[in-house]
Amino acid sequence: MASGPEKKTFPSGSVLAEARNVSRFYHKDSAADVQVLDNISLTLHAGEIVGLLGRSGSGKSTLLRILAGLLPPSSGEVLWKEQPLRKPTQDIAVVFQSFALFPWMTVEENVALGLDARGVPAAERDKLVDDAIDLIGLGGYENAWPKELSGGMQQRVGLARALVVHPDLLLMDEPFSALDVLTAENLRTDLIELWSEEKLPVQSMLIVTHNIEEAVLMCDRIVIASSNPGRIAHVLHVPFVHPRNREDAEFRQLVDHIYALMTQRAPIVSEADLARRGAPQGAALTRSFRALVPVSITMMIGMMEALAAPPLNGRADLPVLAEKLQLELDDLFPLGESLELLRLAELEDGDILLTNEGVHFVLSDLDERKAIMGHALLHNVPLVRMICTLLDERPTHSIKAERFRSELEDSMSADYARQTLQTIIGWGRFAELFDYDEEGDRFFLEDETSE
Ligand code: ADP
Ligand code: MG
Repeated sequence: MASGPEKKTFPSGSVLAEARNVSRFYHKDSAADVQVLDNISLTLHAGEIVGLLGRSGSGKSTLLRILAGLLPPSSGEVLWKEQPLRKPTQDIAVVFQSFALFPWMTVEENVALGLDARGVPAAERDKLVDDAIDLIGLGGYENAWPKELSGGMQQRVGLARALVVHPDLLLMDEPFSALDVLTAENLRTDLIELWSEEKLPVQSMLIVTHNIEEAVLMCDRIVIASSNPGRIAHVLHVPFVHPRNREDAEFRQLVDHIYALMTQRAPIVSEADLARRGAPQGAALTRSFRALVPVSITMMIGMMEALAAPPLNGRADLPVLAEKLQLELDDLFPLGESLELLRLAELEDGDILLTNEGVHFVLSDLDERKAIMGHALLHNVPLVRMICTLLDERPTHSIKAERFRSELEDSMSADYARQTLQTIIGWGRFAELFDYDEEGDRFFLEDETSE
């Protein structure tokens, strides 16, 4: 590995970026604004790695874009070195989950792209590109095409392109989540090693993640966001030196603690919750469409069965259950949330426990399970009830799915809406509440399923 580029020095601890009371709304139409961020205040200092941890949909990417100057806050402001930040600056570089490489450019050209806008003289440019490529372990791949590279190597190109400008702040949006487990771990370790050896030409990094262990492994400070709207719920200092060991008792303890913090509050507001809070009926219907993560029925059943069986007997520490089921912690959370949404399980202090209904489900045969699931869906997922009601009312017992997709888009982005509907289709089909015809993109009722 070549000697790293010289590091610009700010006194460690000096303030680089500061979000002050940042809120963000997405404007859907005159009837509906979706609030994604609520009054976020966050300071990033030189010399630290900060992790922004939160569930899918908690507004992490939105906040990252605002901190990068790519998106304006609806209210509040972002200061960059004490000056208002209103557009992207060369001092802040961003790495996205999706690599965002140009397929028609070689590795070298993709990396150089970071510099092109700056009008750097050719000789200096070549040197910077070479250094970034060497630093990040891409030496020998200068002339390769992105499609010839593995995902891990592609993300290294993404990192090199961000680092080539020697940004003061590196913002990373789930940079490892598209990679397989081993590749992701290699890249994390390499990055932390470079950081510890002060070879990275950056002053501070913000890593957006929904992976608790990743945050504990890499960060000096962890900011935990809650959802709907996104708020800062907790800020934790991570006291461990690098390199860190996931197996250390203290490491495990902190992971458990974060699990507990993140399961303190019911994460998904069901219609019943809204009613309890005294929201009017109509509001409950229109406001409680929540993004659902793609969780399969098979996985949910597997989890409930494992949870019910000895030695767990209905209650487990989430990390323990993850290990038993050989699930990444990241997969476990959406599963737990989905079961909680359906009131088949509850999350409490980092544990998951089956509800009576959940126990009943596990003890039942397939037909009865379908009935329990149908009941749970109708009661806890307003969109399912809406679909079923409309199907019942229609003489044709058939309805276009598109209408529900756009209904969902009033409260979430198009991607989340698609994903949410897909999840609902999987769950509803299992429960035989409705069927769905892919080709016609329609929901319909089999004759005997309508009551
Ligand atoms: P995260 O990165 O934590 O998953 P995001 O910042 O991507 O969260 O999104 C937070 C919420 O904002 C989601 O509910 C999403 O549907 C919504 N959202 C994001 N982008 C848009 C957009 N362009 N229009 C409307 N809603 C959006
Ligand atoms: Mg995101």
